[in-house]
Amino acid sequence: MSSDLASFQQHLSSSKRIIALVGAGLSASSGLPTFRGSGGLWRNYDAMDLATPDAFQNDPSLVWQFYSYRRHAALRAKPNKGHYALAELARRRPGQFLTLTQNVDGLSARAQHPQEDLLCLHGDLFTVKCTSFMCSYKQEGVLDDPLTPALKVDDEEYAADPNYKKLNGGVATEDSDALKKSIFGKGPLMEQRDAGYSSGGLTTTDGLTTDGTDGYSSSSSFFFPNGYNAPPTGRKKKTEEVEPSVIEKEKEEEQEQEEQEEQEESKDNNDSHAHAKKKSRKKKFITKDIPIDLLPRCPSCKVGLLRPGVVWFGEALPFNVLQRADDFITADPPVDLILVIGTSGSVWPAAGYVEQVAMRGGKVAVFNIDVDEESSIATDLIKNGGGWAFQGDAAEILPKALEPIIGTLRPHRKY
Ligand SMILES: [Zn+2]
Repeated sequence: MSSDLASFQQHLSSSKRIIALVGAGLSASSGLPTFRGSGGLWRNYDAMDLATPDAFQNDPSLVWQFYSYRRHAALRAKPNKGHYALAELARRRPGQFLTLTQNVDGLSARAQHPQEDLLCLHGDLFTVKCTSFMCSYKQEGVLDDPLTPALKVDDEEYAADPNYKKLNGGVATEDSDALKKSIFGKGPLMEQRDAGYSSGGLTTTDGLTTDGTDGYSSSSSFFFPNGYNAPPTGRKKKTEEVEPSVIEKEKEEEQEQEEQEEQEESKDNNDSHAHAKKKSRKKKFITKDIPIDLLPRCPSCKVGLLRPGVVWFGEALPFNVLQRADDFITADPPVDLILVIGTSGSVWPAAGYVEQVAMRGGKVAVFNIDVDEESSIATDLIKNGGGWAFQGDAAEILPKALEPIIGTLRPHRKY
């Protein structure tokens, strides 16, 4: 596969329209953990108990504690040079460049990426919306941490979490202002913000489909604090894998850790102390029984609980976001270049975008810590001369690779 920077930059310089697909790998460079990764305190929870409409209905307190941790961790992380490079590219190519991110951490926005050219495929951690059937309340840019006093994240409780320790410090005030202004100012997405989620006819690369009639959309999941649960509107199906690269990575990490623990256990089999220690480590940690009254409540209807504005397992991606991505990719002239950053680009919808760009003559460039040698649309294209693969830290490689357009990133920026 080609990793020839000169030929990439030549193509970049002559490209009129460019799109970037961003995944978890870019935020990993900011120290943001895969949220239940190895050693992480949430690792013993199943994603299905934390990130689905059902999970929220069954235990909103647990789900809110999980998202409070993720919000807190995201606010402690800082955007890296990769985020700034994309933001600069957007400024240099207004209307001709689009970033589609799978990340929910707000780091692109905090790198002052122009809002009109930034689409968040999986929603974001700093949007809240009402879960009541009758209410369409939604608020973006809610940076309060914690959201309610009961959800305060105790840094000491996370002191032993190696992922948490990697985070590089508190959020700067100017960062939060930028976050508020850039993603949450007035713009096309704000106008369409109540367009809701589509459940229409999506096909994932692993063959899971929604047929648009019995998908499980976010607007059909409601929680009533008085204990009444809205009747299910249809058979629940697994639809889109949310943050699939993150989940895959976690699984691998979990497996590794379990294997390690098993080895330790067989070593210490006769040692009851070690056994008890292992057991306690396996124990699900620190979550509290927070009464529902102390969880974030909708200020509009005052009845529904608020939920995080992220896309959960079993939910379709936001229709307005998919529509805008589709419009950009199908417009003329065709997209010349698709940058696949911090993700393998092998999972839907990334794979679909790569394919569409290639079919119209565009090229693909992958920037990832592991350039997947296995067959995927992106790697097949690259092997056949349709692009480039740059292996390594995207936060380091990307700013250099984009220099013909963005120049040298200004040194006074705080990375
Ligand atoms: Zn409400």
